[in-house]
Amino acid sequence: MANILGNYKQVISARTTDREILRGSQDGGIVTALFAYALENNIIDGAIVAGAGDLPWKPEPIIAQTREELLAARKTKYTLSPNLQLLKEATRSYGLDRIGIVGTPCQMQAVRKAQLYPVGMRDVPDKIALAIGIFCMENFPYQSLVQLVEDHTNQKMEAVKKMEIGKGKFSVYTERGALAQIPLKVTHKYEQPGCHVCLDYVANLGDISTGSVGSPDGWSTVFVRSKQGESVWSKAVAAGWFETKPMDQVKPGLDLVNKLATEKITKNQNYLIARGSYGVGKGLRNPYL
Ligand SMILES: Cc1cc2nc3c(=O)[nH]c(=O)nc-3n(C[C@H](O)[C@H](O)[C@H](O)COP(=O)(O)OP(=O)(O)OC[C@H]3O[C@@H](n4cnc5c(N)ncnc54)[C@H](O)[C@@H]3O)c2cc1C
Ligand code: SF4
Repeated sequence: MANILGNYKQVISARTTDREILRGSQDGGIVTALFAYALENNIIDGAIVAGAGDLPWKPEPIIAQTREELLAARKTKYTLSPNLQLLKEATRSYGLDRIGIVGTPCQMQAVRKAQLYPVGMRDVPDKIALAIGIFCMENFPYQSLVQLVEDHTNQKMEAVKKMEIGKGKFSVYTERGALAQIPLKVTHKYEQPGCHVCLDYVANLGDISTGSVGSPDGWSTVFVRSKQGESVWSKAVAAGWFETKPMDQVKPGLDLVNKLATEKITKNQNYLIARGSYGVGKGLRNPYL
C-alpha cells in the first residue's frame, strides 16, 4: 500500500514542556502548545478549535484568540466538531489574517480542498497559517457517544473527565477517579457510517499531524509535513516548547502507526468495494473514483 503515512519531513515523539498545558491535554499537548506558541509569536492571530458546547462532550467550534481559550478547548471529543464552519467567519467577522485550525484527517482534506477550489471562500485560502491534523481511526455521532458512555459504563456524561481510545479499549475516566473500559468490538457498531469509507489515518494533509499511537503514554507522535509546518515546529522546539525523542528510540514506535493505518485503510477499501455491489444493478458510489 503506497504512502499510507503521507509525505513528511520528519516524525518524532514529543510532549510539551509547558506543564500547565500538558496537565489538561489529551496526550503530549502538541496541538494546544503549538497554537499557544504560534499565538505568542504572531504566527497566527487565532485558532479554530473544538470548544465546550452546551451539552457535555458535545463540542462547539470556537475561534481561540487567547491562551486561556486554547486551554479550555483541550482534550479529545469523540464526536464531530465542525471546525471548518468558522473559517469564513474567522476572516470576515473576526478579521483574522493568519488562522490556525485543528481537525481530523477528513477536515484537513476539506481545508486543502477549500484552498484549491475556494468557492464561497474568497480571501480565505492564503489566510490559513497553520493546519494541525489529528490522527483518527473512527468517530461517533453525539447520540452514539452518549449511549456508549451512559449505557455501557453507567456514568453520566457530566461526570466524565476524559475519554480515550487505545490498546483495544474505549476508556472513560470520571472526575471522581473511576475508570470504565469498553472493548472496541462493542464500540464499532456505534461508529459514524461515513467513517467506513475513510482512507486516511494520520491526517496526511496537515502542516503537522499528531496522535498518541506509536509513542509512550503522555507523549505524542508528530509528523512534520509541510514547509510551513517545519518552520513553526523547528522554531517552537528551538524556543524550548517541546521535548523530543527520535521515533526509533520509543516504544511501540512507528511500526504500530503503520500497522493501524494499514488496517484502517484495508478494511475501508474492502468496504468500498463491497458497497459497489449493493442495490440492484446500481451499487453505491465510490467517493474515491
Ligand atoms: C474522533 C477522534 C478520533 C481519534 N482517533 C485517534 C486514534 O485512533 N489514534 C491516535 O493516536 N489519535 C487519535 N485521535 C487524536 C488524539 O485523541 C488527540 O486528539 C491527539 O493526540 C492530540 O492530542 P494533544 O495532547 O496534542 O491535544 P490537546 O492539546 O489536548 O488538544 C486537542 C485539540 O483538538 C481539538 N479537538 C478535540 N476534539 C476534536 C474533534 N472532535 N474535532 C476536531 N478537533 C478536536 C481540541 O479543541 C484541541 O484544540 C483522535 C481524535 C479524534 C477527535
Ligand atoms: S474516520 Fe475519517 S471520516 Fe471519520 S471522522 Fe475520522 S477522519 Fe473523518
